[in-house]
Amino acid sequence: MRVTVLGSGSAIPVPERAQNGVLLEGGKGDKSPILIDCGSGVLHKLAHLSVGLEKIRTIFLTHHHLDHMSDLLPLITARWLLGHTQTHVYGPEGTEKLIKNLLDLYEYVKQHTAVHVTELRDGSVIEVEGMKVGCLQTVHSAQNLAYKFENKVVISGDTEPFEKMSEFSNGCKLLIHECSFPDEFKASKHTTPAKLGEVLRSCDVETLVLTHLYPQMEGKEGEIIESVRRGGFKGRVIVAKDLARFEV
Ligand SMILES: [Zn+2]
Ligand SMILES: [Zn+2]
Repeated sequence: MRVTVLGSGSAIPVPERAQNGVLLEGGKGDKSPILIDCGSGVLHKLAHLSVGLEKIRTIFLTHHHLDHMSDLLPLITARWLLGHTQTHVYGPEGTEKLIKNLLDLYEYVKQHTAVHVTELRDGSVIEVEGMKVGCLQTVHSAQNLAYKFENKVVISGDTEPFEKMSEFSNGCKLLIHECSFPDEFKASKHTTPAKLGEVLRSCDVETLVLTHLYPQMEGKEGEIIESVRRGGFKGRVIVAKDLARFEV
């Protein structure tokens, strides 16, 4: 499976980071890639890849905050202009209403596209594009689901560090976890490095990729990695960059 970080930023822009998005390729058989989250800038980042937009018919939303979904309608529109009208969106409770409301605002998109929605919840397990997908509700200010693909890759979405994430990710190759702020910052419903390291102290994950980085995190890569390790996490730690790729 190939995993590409499309956006490693947050709700506040920095020049080199789009908002949130990850692309997974390599489901069994002739399957399409899966896009997880589609914040501002993700559509543009997709243009850097050889995967055509026409192939991206399956999108998972971790939650409905704008930095995770503001490019969703532009993506659906771009796909329609390329001749592909069907899209399937998976997300937490309320996704059906969100999509309906968005399409009601943009009648011209609604007229030309068909967006199918599946709502998921904590503990849901489904098969999509040849991949088994598990769901875990996280601790955030909006209902957020972390997703696990093929028992190999976990994407946290937004969350405080919490113990269930460690169990959920145990044995995976790659955990892409939000790490919004430095340790000295009082982060409510978001993650700081030392606390994340502590929660993951007994989690067996090969590589932890830190993403959802606020401007306060810029230029502190070494410090951040050191802090996660001091917390107790024993695997490899990487601070995400846009368009970073991982083969698992
Ligand atoms: Zn959020
Ligand atoms: Zn966010």
